[in-house]
Amino acid sequence: MSYSPRLISIGLVSLLTLSARAEPDPNWLGHDRNRPAPAVVDPGYPSTQDHVGKAPSDAVVLFDGTDLSHWAAMDGQPSKWIMHDGAMECVPGSGYIRSLQSFGKCQLHLEFATPNPPHGHSQGRGNSGVFFGMGRYEVQVLDSYDNKTYADGSCASIYDQYPPLVNASRKPGEWQTYDILWTPPHFNTDGSVAARARVTVFHNGVLVQDDVDLVGGTSWMERVPYEKHPEKLPIAFQDHGNPVRYRNVWVRELDPHNRPEFYYADSALDALCGKYQDAEITRRDNTLILKMSGFVKVLHAGSPTHFYATDTDVQADFDPANKTVGISVGEDEQMKKKKSE
Ligand code: MG
Repeated sequence: MSYSPRLISIGLVSLLTLSARAEPDPNWLGHDRNRPAPAVVDPGYPSTQDHVGKAPSDAVVLFDGTDLSHWAAMDGQPSKWIMHDGAMECVPGSGYIRSLQSFGKCQLHLEFATPNPPHGHSQGRGNSGVFFGMGRYEVQVLDSYDNKTYADGSCASIYDQYPPLVNASRKPGEWQTYDILWTPPHFNTDGSVAARARVTVFHNGVLVQDDVDLVGGTSWMERVPYEKHPEKLPIAFQDHGNPVRYRNVWVRELDPHNRPEFYYADSALDALCGKYQDAEITRRDNTLILKMSGFVKVLHAGSPTHFYATDTDVQADFDPANKTVGISVGEDEQMKKKKSE
């Protein structure tokens, strides 16, 4: 029996996928007394209908009812969603709202409430959505309480791909929870998919998506293939024309080597670009490109003024008021003045 190259490559992909699964670390003995104990995390406490819970101590809190400072419109400009009674609410026609911070593999907790009394029917009732990958992959939010619609568009579906295992919806107006484990897709340098995105969802504590494997981005009436993108991207909530509310939104990043990365408006990054003596800074999407001394580095945003490379210890700290940038390579830092245009 002979094997076709395609079968062999499928076998290799399966092997790689399997090898990506966790195995006990062979560097430690069983019950090794020298092995570091797990970090201590205050787990916080869950919400009730009347009281908002508290996030675990190691979570990035994106919304705790006080302000929208961790959020923006998709283009990075201030969002038009409103805040009242400790919730953030979709203003129909205002567009999606997204986190300023980008996330890779993560645990996301959020709570939502669809409008009460309900209006509309099917996909027109309490429709919103939780998007990963800067608007690419949707976990549906919908009023699915006594509201008939197609299965793969109902609440907690992976829209157009997987219906939830059960309908665990609460009544309109009641607070509901999502606890989501998101694993972004992984791409090869040529843009092909090395590993698909995976999602697990608990809706009101009930398992509704069991480590499903996304076939591509979310779309309507068609299947769209994956397109290469950064693994870390913002989380967004959908404006589908209904005033759905959200509260108590927090994320635990699951990559131990993670450094916070943000996705700012193009205009904010463009303002930092220019020539700084022998260094030149340009923008590519949400990153800055540093050209200096014959090297080129992609710099990611750690704050509005601090940028860093992920493969070498190169950092850039801007002082927009004085039009300077401090560029460090290892411990060597040089302050450079921006040339006037
Ligand atoms: Mg939706």
